[in-house]
Amino acid sequence: MPYPPLPAAPPSDIHRLPHGLRTLIEANHEKGLYWDDSINPQKGCDPVSTGCTNCFMLDAVKKRYSKMPGSPYFGSDGSAMFFPKELDKLRDDFDPKRYFSPIMGDPYHEDFNDETVALYHEALRQAPYHWIYSFTKRSERLAEVGREIEWGPHICSVVSVENEDYLYRIADQWEAGALRNGVSFEPVVGEIRDTPELRRLLSPPGGRPLDIMFIGGESTKNDNIRPMREAWARTLIRVGLELNVPVFFKQVGDVDFDGRRVGAKKAGRVIDGRTYDALPRGCVDHLVRAPYIAEAARRRSR
Ligand code: SF4
Repeated sequence: MPYPPLPAAPPSDIHRLPHGLRTLIEANHEKGLYWDDSINPQKGCDPVSTGCTNCFMLDAVKKRYSKMPGSPYFGSDGSAMFFPKELDKLRDDFDPKRYFSPIMGDPYHEDFNDETVALYHEALRQAPYHWIYSFTKRSERLAEVGREIEWGPHICSVVSVENEDYLYRIADQWEAGALRNGVSFEPVVGEIRDTPELRRLLSPPGGRPLDIMFIGGESTKNDNIRPMREAWARTLIRVGLELNVPVFFKQVGDVDFDGRRVGAKKAGRVIDGRTYDALPRGCVDHLVRAPYIAEAARRRSR
C-alpha cells in the first residue's frame, strides 16, 4: 500500500553560517553524519538494552583493539575506562564545529564515579565555541546527576531510544534539565507508535519541544540485524515535523525498505525523494557566534 507523502521540512537557515563551516556541515550531511568530529574520553562499555546488541564498539574492542599492541585496549575485556586527556581536544580546537561525544562509550556508565562525570561535563562546558552532542542510554543516571550539572547552551544532551520500551529515557532526560535536548531513534529496532504518550514526551505541554530528533536503521556486519521498516521511519518523521521538532533522518540502515541487505550506503537516506537534514534548534545561532567566542578563548590561551 503506498504511503501518504511526508511533509517537507521547514526551510533551513544553514546559509547564515560562515562559508567554511557550512561547507563542512553540508559535506557531512551528504554522508549521513550529523556531527563533524568526535571525542572518545570514555572507551569500553556494557550493554544495557536491546539497542546495544550490535554496538560496533563492543565488537571492535573484542575483535580488534584488545589484540592490538599499543591500543589502550590491548589485553582488555572491554570494561569502561576514562581517558581525561581526550577531553583536551575540545579545548584546543578553536575551529567551531559539531562534536559527537563519546563515540565509544557512555558518560554515565556505572563504573564512573560522580567526580569523573563532573570532570567530563566541565570540559564540555569550557568549550563553548563548539556545539556538542553528549549521548547516553543510561538516562536514569543522567536524571540523577543532571540537576548538578552546569549545562551550557552549546551542550545538547541526547538519549537513545530503540523501541517503545525505552521511551522513559526521554522523560528522564527532561528531568536532567539540559538547555538543549535531543533523542536518537537509532537503531530503531521496533515500532514506535504515534501515541499521545510519544507526543507528550517529544513536546511536553507548556514547554519547548525537543531540539532535535535523529532517526536511523541498524547497520552491522552481524547476522542478527534488525531492519527498520519504512512505516516506522515515516511515523517518527511525521510526528517530529508535526510537533515542530527538527528531524535528521540519518539512514535507512543496511537493509533497505524492500528487505534487501544492500548496505547502508546503498540503502541511503532519501525518503519521498528528499532528505531530512535539520540542524538542532539554536545550533545555527550558536555557530554564527562561535568564531568570536573561539577567538576570545584563543587569545586568552596564549
Ligand atoms: S550504551 Fe552505547 S556504547 Fe554502551 S554498549 Fe550500548 S550502544 Fe554500546
